[in-house]
Amino acid sequence: MIWNPEMESMPRERLGALQLKRLQQTARRVYERVPFYRQAFDKHGVKPADIRTLEDLRRLPFTRKADFRETYPTGLFAVPMNQVLRIHASSGTTGKPIIAGYTRADLSMWAETCARCLASAGAQPGDTFQNAYGYGLFTGGLGFHSGGELLGLTVIPVSGGNTERQILLIQDLKPKILTCTPSYALTIAETIRTMAIEAASLGLKAAVLGAEPWTEEMRKEIEAKLCLKAVNIYGLTEVIGPGVSCECVEVQNGAHVYEDHFYPEVIDPNTGEVLPPGTRGELVFTSLTKEALPVLRYRTGDLASLDASPCGCGRTSLRMSRIVGRTDDMLIIRGVNVFPSQIETALMRIPELSPHYQLVVTREKTLDELEVRVEVSPEFFRQIGGEILVDETHQADHAVHELRRRIGERLRGALNLNTTVTLLSPGGAPRSEGGKLKRVVDKRKL
Ligand code: AMP
Ligand code: ZN
Repeated sequence: MIWNPEMESMPRERLGALQLKRLQQTARRVYERVPFYRQAFDKHGVKPADIRTLEDLRRLPFTRKADFRETYPTGLFAVPMNQVLRIHASSGTTGKPIIAGYTRADLSMWAETCARCLASAGAQPGDTFQNAYGYGLFTGGLGFHSGGELLGLTVIPVSGGNTERQILLIQDLKPKILTCTPSYALTIAETIRTMAIEAASLGLKAAVLGAEPWTEEMRKEIEAKLCLKAVNIYGLTEVIGPGVSCECVEVQNGAHVYEDHFYPEVIDPNTGEVLPPGTRGELVFTSLTKEALPVLRYRTGDLASLDASPCGCGRTSLRMSRIVGRTDDMLIIRGVNVFPSQIETALMRIPELSPHYQLVVTREKTLDELEVRVEVSPEFFRQIGGEILVDETHQADHAVHELRRRIGERLRGALNLNTTVTLLSPGGAPRSEGGKLKRVVDKRKL
């Protein structure tokens, strides 16, 4: 089902005219209301009135994650706070999150795009919908919640975690639609298996999965194990949250961008040059209707390509490929954004440690695991008698055990994530051999 056929299947020429009108409004809005954008426009010698065609968008400067950080918390907002009805936040980079705000109109636009996603996965009014995205500052839970209600679904706001209860609810309330991260869908699938429940007996029809990278192989695995169709949904806090784009269940080949609200570009991350459809580069989005937090040419850091070919489902929008990677070094562990620099900062503040560490990311069974391998300082090493720390039995010794616990706690505070801490003897972590040192070993097959 196409939730909004007028917008989602609009002839491209008419769509272009609508986009231009909305782009001009957005440019005027940010120029008048957001000092950051006014300065950026002025620096580039461009005025909102210079935007006469969609191509003119290319004359505008990019917005970056760093601009959010420098204007933290709400410097990019284009409305006074008394018009902001909701705040969400992304886990961010240096401890400070990225703050997003929504006016009433923003919330209703967002509900609309999330309703489109659910409909494009096959949801019909009257269906029951289990929303296992986290509720809270994270955009996933509440974003989908509103979308489900708008579509006329019976929403089960279970949030993430507590897998056995999730399964109980699926068994007893028979939702047709499930939303969560792909890695959590695998956990649910596995738990179903250990509980000796037949997946087919659950009656799930479709899952709308995203918020973290995943592969086609993973899709097949999840579809087979949960007996449903899985579609890829993409979004980010800076742009709105989930609902920037979503695949259709009929074709499952690229996520339809809701272009009446979000204008996509793909650029060469090094030169900033706009690349043609089919070429992989960094995704850039311009919001066309947002009020509280309009973004102009926001560089997502996500690497993907656009597909301009018509889709069998009848939607006329451009489609996005899967995200193939990121331009920066951000790791997404169980849906939580982690930058190696955050870990470094936390480790450096613990006097018993040396500045030599390594991060190993694995996907054991279904969940991401982050192992933080860090050397103790030579002093501490002498203090504990100079034993080889990698030895399992020694890791349990009191002083060592206490240190590992404290590191784990610090990291949990900094990252909001449980990690495995392994202490190494001095010299145990890799050193630079002259060039760059690769501290992150990502063993997940992506
Ligand atoms: P957040 O704003 O914290 O929800 O994180 C947004 C980021 O999550 C995006 O910039 C992507 O890097 C990642 N992400 C979201 N959806 C997907 C998806 N379907 N595939 C891969 N990565 C995704
Ligand atoms: Zn389609």
